[in-house]
Amino acid sequence: MKELILEMERYAGQNNVPIIELDSIKFIMKYIKLNKVSKVLEIGTAIGYSAILMANANSFVEITTIEKDEKRYKEAVKNVNKSGLDKRIEVVYNDALEVNLKGAKYDLIFIDAAKGQYIKYFEKFSNYLNKGGVIITDNLKFHGLVKNKDFVKSKNVKGIVDRIERYIDYLKTNKEYITKFYDIGDGISVSFRRNEKREDID
Ligand code: SAM
Repeated sequence: MKELILEMERYAGQNNVPIIELDSIKFIMKYIKLNKVSKVLEIGTAIGYSAILMANANSFVEITTIEKDEKRYKEAVKNVNKSGLDKRIEVVYNDALEVNLKGAKYDLIFIDAAKGQYIKYFEKFSNYLNKGGVIITDNLKFHGLVKNKDFVKSKNVKGIVDRIERYIDYLKTNKEYITKFYDIGDGISVSFRRNEKREDID
């Protein structure tokens, strides 16, 4: 397994595939372990790196992960097969905003796809959240740019930063959810419905 993980890190580096930072995936793995999570939905598979690591957090967790890029999807399927975790990881080739998961419910929903679409993902997939479940979002610092917007030259990048800021605001003002923000990796949030009892991570 260790060799496969290193191989995926090398592939991601050489092919400009963004994958989660080590501290962030460790945080999520710890959450899965502590809370005995059994069903995870991930939005944004890339090459299956975080899915494979999450599946290693305990022996029973099942992951459904969605990827819309064909090349990355195929690479992810290859990696999942190599990991021997194909019974517990299902890779879905689709646009997350189009997919219909037919009434499935998850204990943990991990949002890690297009940064500009975070509100849309949250609104769609909160309907798939089990009682007591959480929605975790990565990249809320967007490589430090969210705090340093004035230094951003590219209009495109500025647009993404604006949308991440809007998402953070959306989480902070959401009446249905309580969100905790963690300065871990590229910035992580954990959102859970008000009035639902659950184990905490800290
Ligand atoms: N979670 C992965 C990991 O840490 O190993 C990294 C995911 S990468 C940051 C984001 C991925 O989301 C990209 O591969 C991109 O193609 C995919 N993506 C973007 N928008 C999407 C959408 N609407 N539906 C499904 N996948 C999407």
